Amino acid sequence: MTRALIVTGGSRGIGAATCLLAAKDGWDVAVNYASNAKAAERVVAEISALGRRAIAIKGDISDEEDVIALFDLAEATLGPISGVVNNAGVVAPSIPVAEYSVERMRRVFDINVMGAFLVAREAARRLPKERGGRGGAIVNLSSMAARLGGPGEYVDYAASKGAVDAMTVGLAKELAPSVRVNGVRPGLIDTEIHASGGQPDRAERMSGSVPLGRVGAAEEVAAAIVWLLSDAASYTTGTSIDISGGR
Ligand code: NAP
Repeated sequence: MTRALIVTGGSRGIGAATCLLAAKDGWDVAVNYASNAKAAERVVAEISALGRRAIAIKGDISDEEDVIALFDLAEATLGPISGVVNNAGVVAPSIPVAEYSVERMRRVFDINVMGAFLVAREAARRLPKERGGRGGAIVNLSSMAARLGGPGEYVDYAASKGAVDAMTVGLAKELAPSVRVNGVRPGLIDTEIHASGGQPDRAERMSGSVPLGRVGAAEEVAAAIVWLLSDAASYTTGTSIDISGGR
């Protein structure tokens, strides 16, 4: 039986690494992206080269219609969905809370909390066996910031990921036993998210604070995500794994 997976923000960084590793593990993949169609098509081409089916689907996860359309098109193309990686997320420039604009906070919470919830809600409507689905697994991308707080950088981002952690716990209890729900909390990972927050050298600069002594690779986070999606994690739900080099 084929297994179909949706990865939000699958065009770059941790999402792209997850799409590729999941394809190697036998998943067909819907690669969601916000605006970088070329990056998404590159991921689709790499998945196709591995002999799996893939489709790039544009959509803003903070927009309800886009999220519903994402699931509709993914299912129409790949068949019933049994895996969802709730990965798309953003940071804002590093400044103290006293300097935040309302627009900044709304964007962070719209994408990281409302977006993650819209994706989770759609998954909760389609995956459970009681609702005619195949069952399956959801993996939510949180962050070590949820534990560390992001002081002086992005306390709003940290708080948004705290909301994701709580969602993982509650949704896992709601959807058990037919759907498992888990999270991962990456630490300093080498992706373009730091540049998008105005600090391209952030991960490298802060690597001295990591007990394992280096920045992590997107593939090292993807390995945990793909394990959580797999039957090897069949007794794991409602928890989050720190992938942070001990930070
Ligand atoms: P990234 O390299 O900046 O990639 C972000 C991805 O999300 C891109 O594919 C982007 O699409 C997509 N995206 C952004 N806004 C979106 C929206 N509104 N709707 C749909 N897609 C959207 O990020 P990353 O570092 O891989 O981070 C992935 C996840 O891990 C995020 O949730 C992040 O908070 C979390 N995380 C990352 C780190 C780290 O150090 N990198 C640490 C902790 C947690 P386009 O290509 O179209 O722009």
